[in-house]
Amino acid sequence: MGSGQVTEQLDWNGKKVTVAGLGVSGIPAARVLHGLGALVTVVNDGDDERSRAQAAELEAEGITVRLGDGATLPSGTELIVTTPGWRPDKPLFTAAAEAGVEIWGDVELAWRLRGPGAAPWLAVTGTNGKTTTVRMLASILEAAGLRTAAVGNIGVSLLDAVLGEEPYDVLAVELSSYQLHWAPSVRAHSATVLNLAPDHLDWHGSMEAYAADKGRIYEGNQVACVYNVADPATEDLVREADVEEGCRAIGFTLGTPGPSQLGVVEGILVDRAFVPNRQKNAQELAEVADVQPPAPHNIANALAAAALARAFGVEAKAVRDGLKAFRPDPHRIELVEEIGGVTYVDDSKATNTHAAEASLAAYDPIVWIAGGLAKGATFDELVQKSAKRLRGAVLIGADRALIREALARHAPEVPVVDLDRTDTGAMSEAVREAAGLARPGDTVLLAPACASMDMFTNYNKRGEAFADAVRALAATGDA
Ligand code: ADP
Repeated sequence: MGSGQVTEQLDWNGKKVTVAGLGVSGIPAARVLHGLGALVTVVNDGDDERSRAQAAELEAEGITVRLGDGATLPSGTELIVTTPGWRPDKPLFTAAAEAGVEIWGDVELAWRLRGPGAAPWLAVTGTNGKTTTVRMLASILEAAGLRTAAVGNIGVSLLDAVLGEEPYDVLAVELSSYQLHWAPSVRAHSATVLNLAPDHLDWHGSMEAYAADKGRIYEGNQVACVYNVADPATEDLVREADVEEGCRAIGFTLGTPGPSQLGVVEGILVDRAFVPNRQKNAQELAEVADVQPPAPHNIANALAAAALARAFGVEAKAVRDGLKAFRPDPHRIELVEEIGGVTYVDDSKATNTHAAEASLAAYDPIVWIAGGLAKGATFDELVQKSAKRLRGAVLIGADRALIREALARHAPEVPVVDLDRTDTGAMSEAVREAAGLARPGDTVLLAPACASMDMFTNYNKRGEAFADAVRALAATGDA
């Protein structure tokens, strides 16, 4: 097993640090830096009631907070620690660049604060599947008897994980493209880019810039750069990365694996990478049926998690035990009910077309419930790829016309119900309409391909509304 390299310890005493953004990462960063002796100023664009309350708490602790002005660089700033979501073209950062001031994100800060003997990182990024893969990985590492945590957007925060009293053996770390942008010196033991599809392009500026930020995850890897054989752009990123001597490129595939790959043979997940004599040998890791839910993209997630765990030296049995113990988070291809032979599945988390495409590929035939806020997406490719599986479609939300038009262009024979209402009862009507279109053996799939905020607080609430409507339908027995 590899050990984590530790960066030099910095002297924080009296260092003038500007924390950009009050929020989930800014507030803990400010507190930690203040505790280390830094002179911290937090700058924040907003000046609302909530930020004033947060500012008052921090000021009482001795931290300076400047509300309503996130653009001006406080004089004497030696380092900026930014909320990852802040766009790189903000005037604050232009001013910092002109003044030669370094900018770190929350992940860079956590990396630099790691103590001696710190746990190595197994890191995961990608357009979709990050959270699922990181949680599968943590489950496998736990099954191997290692002290570990899934960190990033979920569970323990990275700062808490690296500063905690009890050291971890290894961390399973989810990294977003924003976080990677601001994390120049992070060096993972091994890492993966699960897939690459256009997303957040307004933030990054272009697909090239987005891919380059994702590709940073491979920089300096020690043991394995894990890529997706079906997504050659991820392999290109491995090729471009500057890695440690001896670090290997490892592919995962839903097909039969070649040497240095993990893949699937007759329903078995197999490893042809971390075995002796890989030209001839393969090691069984688990069965497809051990992965919940066994949808193709989720098997891909399981293979990526297995590859990272195997790179860390985990035995095959722990991969199987860990995958078996894993339970997906709610609203990610969650089976809600079966009513009259029709299966109802909640994939409310499919908030972009790439995610929806994966879940539509997992069922056949489908009555598809879709729509919401499109965030600038187009739906032609998604509809073209999924058309032959569609029994029908029920469209909801603000941008449903975009999906309706794509269906008219590429799947004119598919019946479409267009729901022109956005009140709380809209989802119940959508489910009733879907039930009307479905036949026994079909799946009614909520995979909106859109964000939820036009009708719901978030994707969780949208998924709950769907599940409630399905249960109400089951109770009335009118399906
Ligand atoms: P993330 O953390 O990247 O948002 P999640 O694991 O929360 O990813 O999954 C989000 C959604 O993306 C899921 O509901 C599913 O629709 C889709 N998804 C998950 N894994 C993949 C994958 N490997 N490829 C494509 N889509 C996926």
